[in-house]
Amino acid sequence: MSRHVLVLGGTAEARELAAALAARPGVRVTSSLAGRVSRPGALAGDVRVGGFGGADGLAGWLREHDVAATVDATHPFAAGITANAARAADATGVPLVVLRRPGWSAGPGDRWHEVPSLDAAARLLPSVGSRVFLTTGRLGLAAFAGLTDLHFVVRSVEPPEPPMPPDAELLLARGPFTVADEIALLREHRLDVLVTKDSGGAATEAKLTAARRLGLPVLLVRRPPLPPGVTPVPDVASALARLGLA
Ligand code: NAP
Repeated sequence: MSRHVLVLGGTAEARELAAALAARPGVRVTSSLAGRVSRPGALAGDVRVGGFGGADGLAGWLREHDVAATVDATHPFAAGITANAARAADATGVPLVVLRRPGWSAGPGDRWHEVPSLDAAARLLPSVGSRVFLTTGRLGLAAFAGLTDLHFVVRSVEPPEPPMPPDAELLLARGPFTVADEIALLREHRLDVLVTKDSGGAATEAKLTAARRLGLPVLLVRRPPLPPGVTPVPDVASALARLGLA
């Protein structure tokens, strides 16, 4: 009988892991997506879309579908599903591997202000700049909606949810982005500060390099903590090794 692995997805790593698992003999993979993105693209193996109904719903799904192991390969800021995955693993005894790409770290020349939340970023922002490159994702822009004196260029993959800051231009785009393009964008819009979440990964790192080259400050929203007792793996190869499938 094949070993069923559930991959909680929504990231490039989850896609890569699903492909690697689908290629393993004796392994069946199901990727789970929240359903936030309208055209998520093809995934190897089976795909299910939509919430499970909390930790209990996820635990029920694991039992019902005879899941041998779960990999939480969700985005570092998707704290709700990560908490549910940990609780469902405790409730069912189904092993859980948490795959988290490493966060970014400041190097020489970086002018980073690390903040604990989007609200904290919004409070600090007016003292740091006035023309803002905002790349914190389409949810959570409400934190910046009261900043009526600042100009925003908002970039996201899908159209953002209102409310938005009143003086905002919207750029719909999906990474990866190059350093040259990010520098050109920052210059073209005369932006003087970048606000981003510590998502980590190479695909969207170029904006940080661009900000460093231009000497611009960055407000970096720190990641939410992982559930207690969770030791994540940093990449797909380590996730496969943790599953005993290297
Ligand atoms: P979240 O706040 O952690 O989760 C909220 C609820 O959405 C969860 O309780 C769960 O509903 C459902 N959910 C989330 N991820 C799911 C998945 N992979 N499969 C099935 N249900 C899921 O999540 P979020 O921050 O809104 O992120 C949603 C998805 O977008 C995640 O898959 C994540 O990897 C991806 N994503 C998030 C970000 C970000 O910045 N947050 C960025 C890029 C991609 P139930 O309780 O009903 O099960």
